[in-house]
Amino acid sequence: DIKITQDVTFNTMLLSEPTLRGLTNAGFYRPSPIQLHGIPLGKCGFDLLLEAKSGTGKTAVFSVIALEKLQLENNVQAVILAPTREIAAQICDVLKQIGSDYEGLCVEVVMGGLSVEEDKAKFKNKKVHIVVGSPGRLRHLIHDGHIDTSAVRLLVLDEADKLMEKSFQPDINYIFSTLPNQKQVIMSSATYPENTKTFINQYVQNAHHVCPDTTSILLGIKQKVTHVQYNSNVLRQTQIRYKELLEILTKNNFKQCLIFCNYQARVAELHKMLKRDKWPSEQLHGNQDQEDRLGALKTLQEYKCRILIATDLAARGIDASNVDLVINFEPPYDWQTYLHRIGRAGRFGSYGLAITVLSEGKEDAKFKEILSIMKDSLTLSNLWSDDRYQL
Ligand code: ADP
Ligand code: MG
Repeated sequence: DIKITQDVTFNTMLLSEPTLRGLTNAGFYRPSPIQLHGIPLGKCGFDLLLEAKSGTGKTAVFSVIALEKLQLENNVQAVILAPTREIAAQICDVLKQIGSDYEGLCVEVVMGGLSVEEDKAKFKNKKVHIVVGSPGRLRHLIHDGHIDTSAVRLLVLDEADKLMEKSFQPDINYIFSTLPNQKQVIMSSATYPENTKTFINQYVQNAHHVCPDTTSILLGIKQKVTHVQYNSNVLRQTQIRYKELLEILTKNNFKQCLIFCNYQARVAELHKMLKRDKWPSEQLHGNQDQEDRLGALKTLQEYKCRILIATDLAARGIDASNVDLVINFEPPYDWQTYLHRIGRAGRFGSYGLAITVLSEGKEDAKFKEILSIMKDSLTLSNLWSDDRYQL
């Protein structure tokens, strides 16, 4: 193992001038471990499997690689797929920011839920160099001849394990089938469950697995649980949880808070309840208009709201650097989702707190099981006492 102990900056990484200036403009001076290891390998053209915990800057890894490979005289050269529209929009922003010094660079984001006509127009009579999008919409545009993928040299699958899910498969397979044989493929995620192997092998054979710094997951995030009484009546249970939620919100200092629920309806319900009790909040779930979804996220990122209630739609990839409190109003169903959810706090090495509300009995037991599967044995502490919740 090579250990780089010196203080490395992006300037020492032999990147092109515009990329370096773009990184500086973005306020990025020192590469994170995944950037330090991933960028040089990617620049050499290797297929990559990037694995690093949430908030460690994976977006910049494939963004820099895409920019470094760029030939401005050519049409679409990089296709970047993301499982949610919010993530796609975010990646597009990062590319534009780091690519700000590439004169004439054109990055477009296409996504379902917004006007397809507008998406089509983005490719009319002009060169688009990089396309970011949700698989469904991208497939549609490629299929109908609006996007020419014959010059693509890089395919990125962000949140790759999520993209592996059955619902995305036909779209991704179609897109893949239209790409030239010679191309680089980069997958990126915080987690790669065992069963993703066959999926990965469909697209890459000898990818370099880049996974620095795996000794400890989410170091900067303190994880706590708090128990509430179990009630078999769903309405009653929600009220019990809600009471605890108010307690948490009142007694913890936070800059911004993300609250996760397992259902869209619960998000809407909670949104109403908080509003009633004078806790201004926004909501984000799949049953909203795309405009509303993007709007809600923007208010969070621009610090115009302090509390966002969301389904797992927001569990992955969402980057709001001031979120320092994540509350699981109900525990997630699997450990990947748990990791992704709590990873919303503590972006890029900042510190955060994650609190999971558990009803006594089954739910508590199930959650312990989830945690025991995680590679690192975590030590959770109980929110309201100093007792260690040892697993
Ligand atoms: P990931 O995809 O790994 O979860 P992101 O790419 O969303 O993480 O990055 C998380 C945050 O870290 C973003 O706010 C991003 O602007 C910031 N960031 C990324 N790389 C750097 C860097 N080298 N220096 C400073 N901040 C960075
Ligand atoms: Mg990401």
